[in-house]
Formats: sequence, C-alpha cells, structure tokens
Amino acid sequence: MTMQKSEAIVSVADAPAQLEGLLELMRRHDVVVTQEDGVHVGHFPSGQAHLSASAERVEMRIEAPDMTALNAIKLELTGSLTYVYGQELNIDWSGGTDVRTPLPKLCVLTVQSVEQLTPHMRRITFSGDNLIRFAENSNLHMRLAFPDGAVDLPLPMVNGRGRVVWPEGAKMPVLRKYTVRKVDLESGTVAVDFVLHDDAGPGSRFAAAARPGDVIAMIGPGGLTAAAADWLLLAGDETALPAIGRILEGLPPTARGVAFIEVAGPSEEQPLVRPDGFDVKWLHRNGAASGTTALLIEAIRAADFPAEGSVFVWAAAEFEAFRSIRTHLRKERGLSADRQLVVAYWRKGSTEDEMGKAH
Ligand SMILES: Cc1cc2nc3c(=O)[nH]c(=O)nc-3n(C[C@H](O)[C@H](O)[C@H](O)COP(=O)(O)OP(=O)(O)OC[C@H]3O[C@@H](n4cnc5c(N)ncnc54)[C@H](O)[C@@H]3O)c2cc1C
Repeated sequence: MTMQKSEAIVSVADAPAQLEGLLELMRRHDVVVTQEDGVHVGHFPSGQAHLSASAERVEMRIEAPDMTALNAIKLELTGSLTYVYGQELNIDWSGGTDVRTPLPKLCVLTVQSVEQLTPHMRRITFSGDNLIRFAENSNLHMRLAFPDGAVDLPLPMVNGRGRVVWPEGAKMPVLRKYTVRKVDLESGTVAVDFVLHDDAGPGSRFAAAARPGDVIAMIGPGGLTAAAADWLLLAGDETALPAIGRILEGLPPTARGVAFIEVAGPSEEQPLVRPDGFDVKWLHRNGAASGTTALLIEAIRAADFPAEGSVFVWAAAEFEAFRSIRTHLRKERGLSADRQLVVAYWRKGSTEDEMGKAH
C-alpha cells in the first residue's frame, strides 16, 4: 500500500518538555506510544507519527494510508501541541496542504425527543451515526455546533495544515461545550442535558426551542473523567450535574465517596443512580442567583477527607467557584495535581467564547 506522508518541524521553547506533554496527551487519548531508536512512535487508529525533540524543535513525521487519515493525524497533533504549548503555533506541514477531508470527530445529530427533567434542565435525545466513540465513559465532553440563525448547519472539514475549515461564505455555527449524558448504541441515540439558564446564549436558546427534526452537530469527544481512587469527591453546579450523573453511573458498585451538587432548590434535584457507598448532597441556592454563592467551596472545606487510601477530587462549576476550589485543594489540602481535576464550566457575565479568550 502506498502511504501518504507529511512532516513538520516546530520551533518551541523547551521542546523536550513540550514533546513530553504532547505524548502524555496522546496516551490520554488512547494513542499507544512506543519507542524506536530513540524516536517516539504514536500509533493512531489509521496511521503513525514519529516524534522527536531537540533543544528548541519538535519534529513530527507522519504517515497514513489516505489523505483523510493523514489530515486526522495532523489535526490531532496540531491541536494537542498547541494545547500543551498554551499559545497559537505556526505548524507548517509539508505537502497536501490544500486537500480538504471530512472532520473525523464530527457527528450530525437530529433531535428525536425533548424531555423536561426539572424546571431548568432539559434532556434532548438526538439520533446520529457513528456514536461509538462517545459511549466510552472516560471521555465525557464534546462540543455542539448550533446554526447561527435560521440557516442550515454548514459542515466543517480538515485542511492539510491540520486545521478545521468551513465552506466558503458559510455562516459559522456557534460552538458550545456540553457533556454526553447517555449513549444508546442500539437505538443510535445520544442524550444531552441542557441547563435553561438566565441570559440565554445560543446553547440554552437552542435547548429551550428544540423540536424533533432540528439538526446540529457534535464534535469530540474530549475531556477527562474522575480517576480511580479509594474515595472520590465530586462537586459541581447544575452544568456539571450531567457529568456527575454519568460518572456515578460508571463507578464500580464498591466505590465510595461524596457528591456535592449545587442547584436552585429542591425542584431541581434529580434521582441519580449511584453505588451504595456514595452520598449525594444537594446544596440549594434558595433564591440566590447561580454563580454567586460559596456553597460548593464551603461544603468541600467542611468535608472529612479519609486519612487512609487514595483520594480524587473532580469538580466543575462557575469560574469563581472553580478558582476557590482549586486554591483550597492545592494550598489547604495539599492535593497533588494528579489527584484532582477542577474545571470552570462557565463564567458569570461572559459567553463561552469570551471566557475562552480570557484564558
Ligand atoms: C466541558 C464542559 C461541559 C459542559 N457540560 C454542560 C452540560 O452538559 N449541560 C449544560 O447545560 N452546560 C454544560 N456546560 C456549560 C455550558 O457550556 C455553559 O453554560 C455555556 O456558557 C452555555 O452556553 P450558552 O450559549 O447557553 O451561553 P453563553 O452564550 O456561553 O453565555 C450567555 C450568558 O449566559 C451566562 N451563563 C452561561 N451558563 C450559565 C449558567 N449555567 N447559569 C447562568 N448563567 C449562565 C453567561 O455568563 C453569559 O452571560 C459545560 C461546560 C464545559 C466547559
């Protein structure tokens, strides 16, 4: 078989450390990494990447059986190295830079049904193809692409630079991050729980008006779940409730821990399937606006962490809550970075795009 090939040399400060970060991210994305003559080899589902670093350069040589597979590897490496480096990188892949191929991680979704779980939480079940990679509990998140206004959803492609591109003149969809709440491979459906929040943006507006037959797209999956531990602490507001629900459902029956979930009040509580040794404690805002209370950090501060055994804390909430939880875990509990995953899911007064730009 003739293989398609491409390579890129990227100048970055402290290249060996950037390469280590890239390899770590690849492993987390289930890419097997081996070594051949001092070069790291990433075995992607449909091709290979040979990766090495000198003091200030990361070198990447990739090969795959066709351009779709080659572009998929470019997309993965370009996105991951940029993420690890923390700023935009100019990655100049050789050859085939004009070739556009379908975005590998995109699924077109059609609304099948809408269910009001609680006054401010809507479950939308979508039908879609190729959902198998979203069924893995280790990757909880994805991006949804909503059409901007009353237009058909334009579908993005990947170009030979490993970047996502849109059809010429397309009215770009708006992207928002959400959690895969449930996947049913037999019926080919995926459920997403949307918070209907004040100051509605494109995501919550779509959910409030969704009707069977509406079409959006899903890109992913990505994002990590809680790591295994003898005792788990899960914490979050209603935007994290879908993730907490899914994490709890995926735990072994012997799992122990506590989940603190902040919601507006008792009417927003949901029945959650969970192991017997897991407590769920609902924290009510009692009239306070979301994103304005200290309920989560107060509950975490007061929690008794077990003296023996391993601990993992997974938390996601509004930015200020995220910040206070992260600081508490690091400074007051002394929890190491590999024993916690604390994320800001939204920021009061900022849309998701504005929040992304601010970081
Ligand atoms: C990894 C990840 C997974 C997520 N999973 C889910 C999920 O499964 N379900 C879900 O509903 N959300 C989830 N979120 C949060 C969701 O992405 C944000 O709430 C997002 O801002 C919603 O987009 P929007 O278009 O409705 O509002 P935007 O256009 O982003 O914002 C419009 C306004 O609404 C405010 N706002 C945004 N969210 C809230 C809120 N929850 N309460 C009050 N005001 C708000 C903003 O501050 C802004 O002022 C997740 C976020 C991340 C990062």
